Amino acid sequence: MSEPEIRGWCPGALTPMASADGLVVRLRPPLGRLSSAQARAVAAAAVRFGSGEVELTSRANLQIRGVAEADHAALLAELAAHGLVDPDPETERARAIAIAPFYREAAEITSLANILTEALRAAPLPSKFGATLDIGSAPVLAGTAADLRLERAADGRLVLRPDGSATGWPVTAETLPAILTKLIGWFLETGGVRNGRGRMRKHLIGKHDLPGGCNVAPALPAALPKPGPVGDGQLAIVAFGLMPAQTLSALADLSAEIRLTPWRGVFMPGLRALPALSGILAYPEDPLLRVHACTGRLGCPQALAETRALARALAPKLAAGQSLHVSGCAKGCAHPGPCGLVLTATPKGFDLARDASAGAPPLRPALSPAALLATPYPFGAP
Ligand code: SF4
Repeated sequence: MSEPEIRGWCPGALTPMASADGLVVRLRPPLGRLSSAQARAVAAAAVRFGSGEVELTSRANLQIRGVAEADHAALLAELAAHGLVDPDPETERARAIAIAPFYREAAEITSLANILTEALRAAPLPSKFGATLDIGSAPVLAGTAADLRLERAADGRLVLRPDGSATGWPVTAETLPAILTKLIGWFLETGGVRNGRGRMRKHLIGKHDLPGGCNVAPALPAALPKPGPVGDGQLAIVAFGLMPAQTLSALADLSAEIRLTPWRGVFMPGLRALPALSGILAYPEDPLLRVHACTGRLGCPQALAETRALARALAPKLAAGQSLHVSGCAKGCAHPGPCGLVLTATPKGFDLARDASAGAPPLRPALSPAALLATPYPFGAP
């Protein structure tokens, strides 16, 4: 099997990535939230310049796909008019912060997010280097890729934890900047970045010389939230993170604020109920909530097969609790970690593995989509 191409950088609004269906323009809205006016602007831009859908990523970003090169400047102007594009690519890169969306104290979140952003902006870090701001009583972003995690200990203290370490440093808003500088400095000085790439978790393996005081554990992670009411608002999840632009517009009419989440959905604080809208998975038991699929052949030049139609057709065949990842190649963009079942496209068909990441050695190699769909229980009887 040919190795998937590892690009080592993420697309942004100013640095879009060319894909099979046109440019992918990724937005990192400030503080991971959209006002209703911004949400309407994004929806209108997706219709005018893109595919008509807005893609919600697993890093709590937004993407407009299918943009023609000739339209990129006009799209940027449209987005910049609504405060959604930074003129400086470094500031755009530094917004790689996923924020747990269920907070009530916006002032505290804003202040801590600004400190994290400034620390990431000030250092020569790889574009994929990011952080989570996850300071509810129990972390909810443990499954979200990040290099630095700001969490809360069971006793209420804030904890800055490097990804891959069980413990972190107790911090306050006042001490956070200095400890971030120390930790990022340590990462750079000990060779955490090579050829412009580097992740904290990988770098920590076998290292015991972290700066002192890294000894407070965060509270145990909470269960992943289900769609519907959460706290004082509503969580709306869409299959594969694809939200029709009309649905985003409709949500903007209902809620003054839309917070992006890393669960391929959005959270609307203060919203009492979710109306039925195209694309939104309304039932907590919908099997599509347990299915991941990347763009596949419809939009990715590296894809060896179409993925999402197969994933959608296989969802009803999953046993209760089973999760499925259908990947167009071994890179596994839609779900970088292990999944209960993973189908990886190869030139000969799909390789099936269990409790594994895309590209893992298969239990059953080269399965055809037709064979999978013809079997009532392709992954074992429920
Ligand atoms: S995993 Fe999917 S989206 Fe990612 S490179 Fe492979 S085919 Fe493309």
